[in-house]
Amino acid sequence: MTKQYRITLLPGDGIGPEIIAVATDVLKVVGQKCDLEFSFEEALIGGAAIDATGEPLPEETLATCRQSDSVLLAAIGGYKWDNLPREKRPETGLLGLRAGLDLFANLRPATILPQLIDASSLKREIVEGVDIMVVRELTGGVYFGKPKGIFATETGEKRGVNTMAYNQSEIDRIAKLGFETAQKRRGRLCSVDKANVLDVSQLWRDRVTAIAEDYPNVELSHLYVDNAAMQLVRAPKQFDTIVTGNLFGDILSDAAAMLTGSIGMLPSASLSSDGPGVYEPVHGSAPDIAGQDKANPLAQVLSAAMMLRYGLNEPSAATMIEEAVTKVLDAGYRTGDIMSEGMTATGCQGMGEALLNIL
Ligand code: NAD
Repeated sequence: MTKQYRITLLPGDGIGPEIIAVATDVLKVVGQKCDLEFSFEEALIGGAAIDATGEPLPEETLATCRQSDSVLLAAIGGYKWDNLPREKRPETGLLGLRAGLDLFANLRPATILPQLIDASSLKREIVEGVDIMVVRELTGGVYFGKPKGIFATETGEKRGVNTMAYNQSEIDRIAKLGFETAQKRRGRLCSVDKANVLDVSQLWRDRVTAIAEDYPNVELSHLYVDNAAMQLVRAPKQFDTIVTGNLFGDILSDAAAMLTGSIGMLPSASLSSDGPGVYEPVHGSAPDIAGQDKANPLAQVLSAAMMLRYGLNEPSAATMIEEAVTKVLDAGYRTGDIMSEGMTATGCQGMGEALLNIL
């Protein structure tokens, strides 16, 4: 029987509409092949929403997202809205979406594709075969802990304060997702903390260790964050899945992503415990190349693959998309951001057509 899924599309700004069109076409074809039917509903976010409604995240958009099975987001932002007050800026729409859907976890893969190995700033033998997933806690830790602010001390000096805090339940929830993600991959989980210095990290380590008992088929290790950063650039192949808190995850996921050297190739997933997740490329709206058919749509297409794998539990459809991406690269198609000598230059649409031909 054909399975039906409701997908909210949030094209946003800049290159967003161009790249999301490619991903939608790919999903339609994969759906036909895998007996899945997608109904797509577009909604406004970011600058596009500001222009139409005055708000970066209209209530209607959030309601549409909540009623769907998954949300596919492109990117928001652009020069036009850069001087608006903070609460009216496109980025506020993104934060509102994360909060409104209770997206507590962010999954960011860093996979080195053999065809793009020379795009990495590290040596071929170090990065060849790297395939890491960073699972970052997104709604707790030092970005949200209280007290926070800039206060005056008794001497009148200013003092900036943020508080790194995690409740046991917040750690347990992200740890379980870390183990489940590792189970779907190569079965190894590295938990990153700073338990030698921070009490909050000691609780993190204790809870992750306790939860490991429920996942006997996952091999757990622990690293302090400074060592983890070092190991990521020294010997990245040792990692499979990394689970960590908000601050450490912010930094490590960017470092891991850059091992791949190509921002136009990196997807991400943000997950909630019981509602729809949001799947989006790591890059922004690239206003410098918007509307010129220059954008690389592959991060968006790979985000659609993550949506199938982690949101809709349709791993074979996800694999079909990932294999198609590998094949277009094997066939030599390259957008400007990943172009190298001897390859065939193409645009956003051309890359989309190449994907559809392969599928
Ligand atoms: P950016 O990622 O948009 O662009 C950085 C550089 O990478 C640019 O030169 C751009 O042309 C290039 N690039 C990015 N994606 C590409 C793609 N798919 N194909 C080819 N080239 C690509 O980052 P930025 O310039 O710092 O920000 C631009 C706007 O995007 C800002 O308004 C920013 O706030 C917003 N932004 C949004 C998100 C998001 O929606 N999640 C994330 C980051 C930045």
